[in-house]
Amino acid sequence: MILASHDEASKIYNALGRGVTRSKRRALQWLRKAADNGDAEACYRLASSMYGDQPYAREVGHVVEAAAIAVSAEVTEGHDVPRVVMTSVLHWLRKGGHSTFNKLNAFRSMAREGARYCHNETCVVVGQLKDFKVCPQCRSARYCAACQKQDWTTGGHKEKCGTFAGGH
Ligand SMILES: [Zn+2]
Ligand SMILES: [Zn+2]
Repeated sequence: MILASHDEASKIYNALGRGVTRSKRRALQWLRKAADNGDAEACYRLASSMYGDQPYAREVGHVVEAAAIAVSAEVTEGHDVPRVVMTSVLHWLRKGGHSTFNKLNAFRSMAREGARYCHNETCVVVGQLKDFKVCPQCRSARYCAACQKQDWTTGGHKEKCGTFAGGH
């Protein structure tokens, strides 16, 4: 049973596209529930988040029974994703009724183009996840090279930092 209304779902999807906060983990957990129920969009978004190694995604989206999924070399060739993650990604794509081959190629293109991962909401820097360093204190907020110091001193992260840790 999916409890969230359409508005709530939109909010959650927006939160997923934003910076890294504790609510992001919660949003992913909701996404996982919807995906477990076979919601096609939730399955797609969860698979995409896992593939892109977005914070918490691989942890929340991991499927134990997915290890039995046969992954041919043909499907995984050229994808820089650990096999254990790939099986879960495929699990969600199949569960949502998506074409695995086409979607994986789309994920790869997205990963190559990069995305806005910086915690600073006004930042427009686009890159790959590994180019954004995590705040050493909360280990949650992720920044581009230019924003980390600025957000700490004038952006208010100093006050909010601790609230991102823990992940309830
Ligand atoms: Zn930035
Ligand atoms: Zn922090």
